[in-house]
Amino acid sequence: MIRQYELVEKVKKYDPQVNEALLNRAYVFSMKAHGSQKRASGDPYFSHPLEVAGILTDMRLDGDTIATALLHDTVEDTLATLDEIRDLFGSEIAAMVDGVTKLSRLEIQTESERQAENFRKFLLALSNDIRVLLVKLADRLHNMRTLYHIGKPEKRRRIALETMEIYAPLAERIGIRAMKDELEDLAFREINPEAYASVTQRLEYLREKAPNLPNNASRQLRALLRKKDIKAQISWREKTPFSIWKKMERDHIGFEELSDVVAFRVIVDSVGECYKTLGIIHQKWPMVPGQFDDYISTPKRNGYRSLHTTVIGPRKRRIEIQIRTHDMHEVAEKGVAAHWGYKLGDISPRDKGKYRWVRELLEILEQSSNPEEFLEHTKFEMFQDQVFCFTPKGELISLPRGSTPVDFAYAVHTAIGDSCVGAKVNGKVVPLRHQLQNGDQVEIVRSKAQTPSPRWESFVVTGRARSFIRRHIRKQERAEFLKLGRTILQNAFKGEGLEFDEPTIRESLETLGLSSLNSLYFKLGKGEISHRKAMEAIFPGMKFKYDPGAEPANLRGKDDTDGGIPIKGLTAGVAVHLAECCHPMPGDRIVGIRESGKGVMIHTSDCEALNAYAEEPDKWLDLSWKDEKGAQGQDIYTGRLKLTMTNKAGVLADIAAMVAKQGGNISNIKIAHRDVEFFTMLVDVEVKNLDHLLSVIAALRTLSVISTAERLKT
Ligand code: MN
Repeated sequence: MIRQYELVEKVKKYDPQVNEALLNRAYVFSMKAHGSQKRASGDPYFSHPLEVAGILTDMRLDGDTIATALLHDTVEDTLATLDEIRDLFGSEIAAMVDGVTKLSRLEIQTESERQAENFRKFLLALSNDIRVLLVKLADRLHNMRTLYHIGKPEKRRRIALETMEIYAPLAERIGIRAMKDELEDLAFREINPEAYASVTQRLEYLREKAPNLPNNASRQLRALLRKKDIKAQISWREKTPFSIWKKMERDHIGFEELSDVVAFRVIVDSVGECYKTLGIIHQKWPMVPGQFDDYISTPKRNGYRSLHTTVIGPRKRRIEIQIRTHDMHEVAEKGVAAHWGYKLGDISPRDKGKYRWVRELLEILEQSSNPEEFLEHTKFEMFQDQVFCFTPKGELISLPRGSTPVDFAYAVHTAIGDSCVGAKVNGKVVPLRHQLQNGDQVEIVRSKAQTPSPRWESFVVTGRARSFIRRHIRKQERAEFLKLGRTILQNAFKGEGLEFDEPTIRESLETLGLSSLNSLYFKLGKGEISHRKAMEAIFPGMKFKYDPGAEPANLRGKDDTDGGIPIKGLTAGVAVHLAECCHPMPGDRIVGIRESGKGVMIHTSDCEALNAYAEEPDKWLDLSWKDEKGAQGQDIYTGRLKLTMTNKAGVLADIAAMVAKQGGNISNIKIAHRDVEFFTMLVDVEVKNLDHLLSVIAALRTLSVISTAERLKT
């Protein structure tokens, strides 16, 4: 068991600035908290957190992480509380201990209890500090090293499977290769003991058959490179039983053919020397076709870089050789941890690393091939309510489920949303309404000429995107109103035979209570001020002849006292028609459909005719009545009723009388269906508004001859 001062010294070696007192406090706190607890091996429990801390010092992790390692089981397994940890060690370490504890809890739940939600929360917690994951991996590594102490075979097997499926891939993704190899090998031994035994036997046989092969080969290699003036560090290692087993499975080779069980590593000073070394080796020994990989020009996703080749070496034995620089070696051994060293200032795990790690996890979870364990289960449920997507630079953008590239664009930056014209998802062009999936990499195609389209509003799901689109639409509308208002006033001047003169108009602003020409134009355009009122203010006391109010053939003509259009939300001057399918009237919820050449057609919002425009959201206008009761009750609207009544003489007269009594007027009647007992009629009734129509319907229902009376909207 490593001692307190040894641990501190080890950290001080790579981080002289480390907070020694903190490490000592964590050591003592954990030792006391675990007290007389024992491991399955019979060792004092405290040996476990200590070993975990030791593993992390090998990876040269910072003092906070080492302290977290020492404390990682105290909250779960002792009387210590998170509050105590926070008081004694600060909130950062407490948060990390909490993260490790949460993952441990997840682990001990039975399969059915492994709630996807918990895992998701953990994942998010993890994204705040990746060091949590490193502690967890070190924890698992030590537990695997001591797995054989556990008595129950089922428990050993479960832990080994979990290691193989979750922790080893995690270690690989973050590039901690040595840890990945060891985890896999320890798990392999438990999961498939027979295979493990066979591979180990074969390894022993090969070792005995040519005991000096590795040393001879590296001597030859060294001499060869020295002759060409390349300074190289050469080392070799035996491949792990699991990696050999995997290779046998993958390449379908038997033990007899298995010969390259040793891997050589050549470390040189520069990338140029890597390739030079490769050339020298290939000149000396023939390469095995199909076994060459250039991970320098095409690095692995976890950042791994190296040249890999297999050659027929001394004694006609295959040997695998990896060639890399010192920097590449550092990354290959320690993964992302290599980038930090002990100085976290540069790449802060709380900041830049944050999202990358979540992405790695997601990839693992989504690529998991074994359906038995909880991965499969969580795969479908874990992110029910959100999707995680990535920018081309690998930044994570979390969005609600159903989000589209437009939502994504606005989530990244308003300017990107505003100039978005298209999108590529995982390199493929998709429509802007495309729904994003977990792990998608999204690239937004932009154009300076583009402005947000009102049509986007129909498919975006984030409030942020929607509000920016609306803001833009309002801006556009304002520009339209300004233009229209100016034109209206220009026409009024022209009608009076006057020359349009803005300085003169400006003088009237005060009278009108307005601050600028634009606000006058805007109000004119919107119909909030009539042209007549404006002209009277500009030319007080003058008599006018021009009346544009009679001009447009639309509802404007019915009520021009204030330039009135009884519908809000329209650009002034646009022709408006009430649809004959649903006969909208004040009181109905309405939408407008822009029809080219015809202006705007008003429908009730539940009209079935709208289905025809479902794919053309840019034609839709969100409108409402200026007055839900109808403008001063002057306008007349037609409501269509479907009446079913007893087939009796005099029925029609009864109906007409009742409608008239209610202040309505029948404008059209059509018999729809008639049989011996009943007949159905379509009746158009002129009313003031929806309330009026409803009272007519209610009154008709009181008639004994009427069996049903309802408003018809087709
Ligand atoms: Mn532990």
